[in-house]
Amino acid sequence: TPIQKPVTGEHIREVLGRFEVDGCGITPATIEAALDEKVMVMHYQPKICLRSGQYRGVEALIRWPTQEGMISPGQFIPVVERDESLSLRLLRYVLAQAADDASAWKDAGVRCAVNMSALCFSDERLSDLLTEGLKGTTLGPGDFTLELTETAALKDPDRVERILTSLRIRGFSISLDDFGTGHSSLLHLQRMPFNEIKIDQQFVATLLRNSRSRQIVRLMVNLGQTLGATTVAEGIEAEEEVRELADMACDVGQGYHFARPMDAAALKDWRLRWDTMMDPRRVVGAE
Ligand code: C2E
Ligand code: MG
Ligand code: MG
Ligand code: MG
Repeated sequence: TPIQKPVTGEHIREVLGRFEVDGCGITPATIEAALDEKVMVMHYQPKICLRSGQYRGVEALIRWPTQEGMISPGQFIPVVERDESLSLRLLRYVLAQAADDASAWKDAGVRCAVNMSALCFSDERLSDLLTEGLKGTTLGPGDFTLELTETAALKDPDRVERILTSLRIRGFSISLDDFGTGHSSLLHLQRMPFNEIKIDQQFVATLLRNSRSRQIVRLMVNLGQTLGATTVAEGIEAEEEVRELADMACDVGQGYHFARPMDAAALKDWRLRWDTMMDPRRVVGAE
């Protein structure tokens, strides 16, 4: 099935209001079709070391181009996340796409992060499936971080722990996304083998205005350090936020202040400019 009708903003609002559509817009079927035709593309947003200013890798964020413009993941991921097999299919698509793009610009020691939904844990063979998916590309599990959002999956923590452990053994890194919001909890941290914690952008957004928010972020950074996990702050939009987070010894930052998500070609250009511009005097915290 080809993608039906171009999707308009109106349609999308309507779709998300009712969560099912016929004849237009976003359904599991139109998403499948877009995946079949490889219409979906990945954009990449750099992750930067807050102490040195060095490039540390990217997060891959999916985009759905239509005649009417890009549909953002916030608009169709919720539909994907109602379906186990579609969730897994999307993850494999994203990984393949990222491996393809990254072969052109990836350098040693930096990882590409991809987002995955909790429903992917429905398949016990997840680590085999993902590892096999990367065969025939120039990248392996060690080149990727899996960002886990909101593990409602703690419904069956033994299972999730088992699958995460097998992913780690294969070489994937595991990141807890949007930490401090929704269902993400300290129980996750206690049980699950995370390498990285991502402090949700809502905390970063209020960092400068609100001293309680600052205290909480500081606590999250310390927590990450204690657990031996890398701490990443998302949604950094201002130089002042960089300074504040670097002072707290938060490891990595991501946000419009450094770069917006961009396609693979733009990322290559951005990297060149970033590396030439990267002058020690510009780096926050360096004297
Ligand atoms: P996320 O993983 O927490 O990604 C961060 C979101 O914040 C991205 O939105 C990114 O574009 C946006 N962002 C980055 N820097 C800034 C900033 O400085 N300010 C503000 N206001 N926003 C910033 P995006 O790309 O619309 O993605 C939204 C969510 O959709 C993601 O949140 C993730 O949960 C989900 N998502 C995106 N791509 C995928 C995918 O390939 N698979 C799955 N399962 N989920 C995805
Ligand atoms: Mg993420
Ligand atoms: Mg996030
Ligand atoms: Mg977020």
